[in-house]
Amino acid sequence: MMKQKAQKQLRVGLIAMSGVRACDRELLALGLTLPGFVERSETIASLPSLGLITLASLSPDWCEVSYHEVDQIDDWSLDEMDSFDVIAISTFTAQVKEAYVLCERLKNHGVQYVVMGGLHATSLPDEALQFCDSVIVGEGELVWKQMLVDARDRCLKSKYRASQPFDLADAPMPAYELLDIQRYNRLTVQTSRGCPFKCEFCASSILLTDKYKQKPMEKVLAEVDKICELWKRPFIEFADDNSFVNRGYWKKLLPELAKRKVKWFTETDLSVAWDDELLDLMRMSGCAEVLIGLESPSIDGLNGLETKGNWKAKQLGRYQEGITKIQSAGIRVNGCFILGLDGHDVGIFDRVLAFADKLELYDVQVTYLTPFPGTPLYSRLRREGRLLEENAWERCTLFDITYQPKGMSCEQLRAGFHQLVKELYSEENTSLRRDRFKHKYRQASRSRLRNVSHLKV
Ligand code: SF4
Repeated sequence: MMKQKAQKQLRVGLIAMSGVRACDRELLALGLTLPGFVERSETIASLPSLGLITLASLSPDWCEVSYHEVDQIDDWSLDEMDSFDVIAISTFTAQVKEAYVLCERLKNHGVQYVVMGGLHATSLPDEALQFCDSVIVGEGELVWKQMLVDARDRCLKSKYRASQPFDLADAPMPAYELLDIQRYNRLTVQTSRGCPFKCEFCASSILLTDKYKQKPMEKVLAEVDKICELWKRPFIEFADDNSFVNRGYWKKLLPELAKRKVKWFTETDLSVAWDDELLDLMRMSGCAEVLIGLESPSIDGLNGLETKGNWKAKQLGRYQEGITKIQSAGIRVNGCFILGLDGHDVGIFDRVLAFADKLELYDVQVTYLTPFPGTPLYSRLRREGRLLEENAWERCTLFDITYQPKGMSCEQLRAGFHQLVKELYSEENTSLRRDRFKHKYRQASRSRLRNVSHLKV
């Protein structure tokens, strides 16, 4: 879709690389037979790029901006791209080599400038510059306009990096109208950036912002309203690293959100479980599911996971109580586990299976520990000589092993992971998890009703 403005001096194309990637063919084949397995990754892969549509709305009037998504570069026609002055590409590490091929093709096709941004280009701008003309390092909002001015004046710089953090109070309304709404099953709104825990493996909370920061509530609600204009009763994904760090903010936001009658999903830590008022507000405002990084069923895996504090390890004894509280409020929990942490040995696969069952999670997600470039985990494993192959970015899919695990061999990790996937996502286990959730929620609702009628009497 196109954003047309008067007096065009620059045609700007925004390209988001989409789609799930995995190199392990056996696992891919398994994923096809076990639909629950890659569900979350597929959802992420089918979300629009919020970063790009935010930059779109910061483009001056003299730009004509369009948004495109590319899944398979070989299936994508470049025919319409030759008249573009600037193409900006946002990508994840697993697809970055495809993005580099695309950069070369676009240049050969006559595109004046190809610019890259996003987490991978931010951590390795010099690598990206071998393929594109310029890299936006870090948050793009403060440098986007300058980049476009320089492109118009034919004096593009090789790197654009903001000299100060971006204040979310200045965040523009993302250009949702550029999206072909039909192709999405949910749209994203960001309320915050960053996470105080700074886990060793977590790229997004570390690379883009130093501090946790929050968008003013009015802006968030205006974005939800804009989405509702385009799509009645939408499903919204809050694109936050960790939503409920500031609970006071959400307690003001959620009653307003409830008036919009949307359904929503977000990522959080377990602490929401300890706030009954927040849980009630979440349910009443349409929260369908939260994703929580539980990471490991054992203390060995959790110890030292965060670069600041050891919060998750301290919560382990309360995981079950917390999940029960959240799910009893009618909010599904997608519990995520990382396999291959330094404290894990070959017994971990059975422990995750048993733990997921004990917690009665509605959804479970398992991935390999993955050292993304720019993270403390990547630097440590590199220092320890444990990366299997330098620059094998195409393997940073979360479903391929890229490093030497500590407590087992790569083959043991791979075989255990495959077996775990088969068992966790079998039809029998999947229906058991879902039926149990419904049953427990009905029970909890009945007991809530009994309490209310008792109070009325
Ligand atoms: S808690 Fe989640 S969002 Fe926060 S740093 Fe860890 S992995 Fe990232």
